[in-house]
Amino acid sequence: MFNYLINLFFPKVCAGCHTILISNETVLCTTCRHEMPLTQYHLDPKNEAVKKFYGKIAIEHASALLYFNKKGIVQELIHNLKYRGHEEIGTVLGNWYVEDLKELVLETPFDMVIPVPLHPKKFRERGYNQVTTFGKAVAQGLNIDYDGTVLYRKKYSKTQSKKNLAGRSDNIENIFDVITAEENQNKHFLIVDDVLTTGATLEACARALLKIPGAKISIVCMAIANS
Ligand SMILES: [Zn+2]
Repeated sequence: MFNYLINLFFPKVCAGCHTILISNETVLCTTCRHEMPLTQYHLDPKNEAVKKFYGKIAIEHASALLYFNKKGIVQELIHNLKYRGHEEIGTVLGNWYVEDLKELVLETPFDMVIPVPLHPKKFRERGYNQVTTFGKAVAQGLNIDYDGTVLYRKKYSKTQSKKNLAGRSDNIENIFDVITAEENQNKHFLIVDDVLTTGATLEACARALLKIPGAKISIVCMAIANS
């Protein structure tokens, strides 16, 4: 609570460790920037992010900028981004990752950044999707489109939800849908998310996007959890 009040009245503190920022620092202090646990996954085509999708779904590239360690700077950053309205953290991480992503050697370049859609109830509570600023920074840096409408969560009526509970199997697989319009065809989609854990949600997003003719899928996340 005390830290929250400090952030509220004196916003220029580090989002990782709460020390006061000096004039040339933005969002993160120099110490935190140096201590960031970078994965360097973009340099390794067989990285741990890619492995999460082995045998499940065809992807062109997957990586995450940071390791998500419980009780560390990254957890603090994601928490501030997700629950305390600090959307600027997404911009910083996106701008940071763009420099790495520009070095990727891909068969076909990314065409469009797609955020994992937030559940409408959470969107109402939070007022923003925590991956938007990250996704927009990546799109801007790579000079490609950002589109939060191509992939969306299906709206279920109460009866449909009950049916799903009874028939469990399509629980997560069937919650997303896409707009297959011609303008979205033959694109290399770059799906963005905050923390990569099991990859189940991202897999469901990818499956939905692959319904669009000619779609290719890549995934980048702010962080990856060791689980
Ligand atoms: Zn710091």
